[in-house]
Amino acid sequence: MTLEEKVGQMTQITLAVVSKGTVNNPQTPQEIDTNKLKKAILQYHIGSILNVVNHAYSRKHWHQILHQIQSITNRTRLKIPVLYGIDAIHGSNYILGSTLFPQEIGQAATWNPALVKKAAEITAYETRAAGIPWVFSPVLGVGKQPLWPRLYETFGEDTYLTSKMAVAIVKGYEGIDIAGKYHVASCMKHYMGYSFPLSGKDRTPAWIPENYLRKYFLPPFSAAVEAGSHTLMINSSSINGVPVHADHHILTDILRNELHFKGLAVSDWGDIENLYTKYHFVRSEKEAVKVAVLAGVDMSMVPFDYSFPKYLIELVKEGQIPMSRINQAVKRILTVKEELGLFDDFVYPEKDYPKFGSAEFKTDNLKTAQESITLLKNNNQVLPLKKKHIKILVTGFAANSMATLNGGWTYTWQGTKTDFFDNKKTTILKAIQNKIGKENVFYSKGTNFNKPLDNSNITNLAKKADYIVLCLGEMPYAETPGNINDLYLPENQVNFALKLAKTGKPVILVLTEGRPRLISKFADKMSGIIMAYLPGNQGGNAIADVLFGDVNPSGKLPFTYPRFPNSLENYNITYDQQKIDTCPPQFPFGFGLSYTTFRYSKLRLNCDTLSKDKTLKISVNITNTGKRAGKEVVQLYIGDLYRNATILPDVKRLVGFSKINLLPGETKTVSFSIKKPDLSFVNRKMKTVTVSGTYKVQVGNLTRKFYLK
Ligand code: BGC
Repeated sequence: MTLEEKVGQMTQITLAVVSKGTVNNPQTPQEIDTNKLKKAILQYHIGSILNVVNHAYSRKHWHQILHQIQSITNRTRLKIPVLYGIDAIHGSNYILGSTLFPQEIGQAATWNPALVKKAAEITAYETRAAGIPWVFSPVLGVGKQPLWPRLYETFGEDTYLTSKMAVAIVKGYEGIDIAGKYHVASCMKHYMGYSFPLSGKDRTPAWIPENYLRKYFLPPFSAAVEAGSHTLMINSSSINGVPVHADHHILTDILRNELHFKGLAVSDWGDIENLYTKYHFVRSEKEAVKVAVLAGVDMSMVPFDYSFPKYLIELVKEGQIPMSRINQAVKRILTVKEELGLFDDFVYPEKDYPKFGSAEFKTDNLKTAQESITLLKNNNQVLPLKKKHIKILVTGFAANSMATLNGGWTYTWQGTKTDFFDNKKTTILKAIQNKIGKENVFYSKGTNFNKPLDNSNITNLAKKADYIVLCLGEMPYAETPGNINDLYLPENQVNFALKLAKTGKPVILVLTEGRPRLISKFADKMSGIIMAYLPGNQGGNAIADVLFGDVNPSGKLPFTYPRFPNSLENYNITYDQQKIDTCPPQFPFGFGLSYTTFRYSKLRLNCDTLSKDKTLKISVNITNTGKRAGKEVVQLYIGDLYRNATILPDVKRLVGFSKINLLPGETKTVSFSIKKPDLSFVNRKMKTVTVSGTYKVQVGNLTRKFYLK
């Protein structure tokens, strides 16, 4: 390959660059401009194209785009196919008619990796059905910052839960072989530490000491690398003062030399150029290219022009970047292309994907949404509601909207263009009407998202109803536009909830939101509270199934639900913090109610001392003591009581979980195995170590102690 051909492979542009219209304002629906495409591929040897601007397309349209690209690559000397990549954040969100699942945060709330794997399999199938072989998913940042507008894209605040879900989602996308019809290459993102911005705003600095980076943020990536993920996207922001795109230590020492990741590392949107323009970290755009490529970026998501290949060619010719580094990056890129089967004809006819958007996939989606719904409050067993002889007032701006069920990354980036939504889909309002008949449901929007609405009729409507279902939360957003300055729900929503509470009718609050917006000003006045996260296109049905008891809720919070804006800590705190945290969160991590009750008993350990190479077996019995079948998530926490070492011990941390189904009266035994490394932490010398001492095991309300030798 010539140098030009090589750096072309390392360049990724957005579809708008080769479309009719201008880059910032492409003609929509986007059509390929053949001359621009020829320029990209014949002149610049472009290796990768991504995404789409503010539009979702049919499979047919995607096939045309992919075929046009292929027909030009076939005319090149080496016939190297273009690697097309697309965001698929909760399903194939830029492909019309695809199956849109709960966002990752809701998938985490299922605590059921099998469902996460299934959703990824379906997404892989439906993405390949449009001819696209590469998804920019999963997000593996540990979501420890409740203000962050991308919290909903994560599996929540816990490292262990995220790591388990990471393995499931990568296996679902990639299968055992990414070549062929039904699988795609996954892209772990955003490596690493992006999810914990100090300010809570997107793309702002994180200060994370390296030992904490290794303890909390690295494990999901390491688990996903081990599970075989082929590609990785880099954190757009800075950690400890260094933009990650320029951080050789993170991108090469840790990623390549420690994790032994062999795949390709792509930049995030414009982030090489940003080293100069946004961060003022280097003196020119050319220097930015040098620093990033030497740090370990293999492919630049440029995405709007051809500056990257131009500078890179100059840098190599000037001897500032060795050819060996270029060869290394290109080899990684070509290997992914080969493993994906792109050198054969890889766009298969639509008829090869009969299950695209099928009823079967809808059922799988519904199951995931049902298991994600988390019941947070149920005063006097107000739920489940009966279906006969009942009148319900359904209200709130989120009651009759598909957009608020889905959030961002839905047909368009921000998820706000409702003309792409399928209006036959079921909102919460429609799903409730389907359960009890339209004539038994009164509806009034009652309030906007952040502006009051005339709701003078609401008290009269409430008088006619037995119950009020109040649907509040957030409007869709993605990334930086979702930044907030206040975690409380907007005041008009709070006032509306208080007004409804005053009617004296039981109010059941249903929250559709991507992060825990504070409800402490009115939560105590609600009879029931259901957290639905962003449950996707089947979310309305799933919520109604839980409201009326067709499904017994089994979701558990994958984050701590804070009570106050200045009290945002996660669950795995240290003892010194526990001492001052006298005010409990609104709802703790791992919490979620059921319509049945479970009793934990007989927590037992196979020994009281755990030594090297030994296994500690922990078993517990769980009995369904209620009247209906239910699923319970058995969570195993371990805490270090005293530590004879340099770093403060965790009060508790999750080290195991298992979701089980129990019939009324049934008892099951759940067992966990713990080895010494499961109790490790990273010391200040960056060594993963364990220390001997007394530890506490906690399952449900039961605890036991053991000694680690
Ligand atoms: C986001 C990535 C995304 C990329 C391409 C960036 O702004 O941070 O998560 O994959 O855009 O759309």
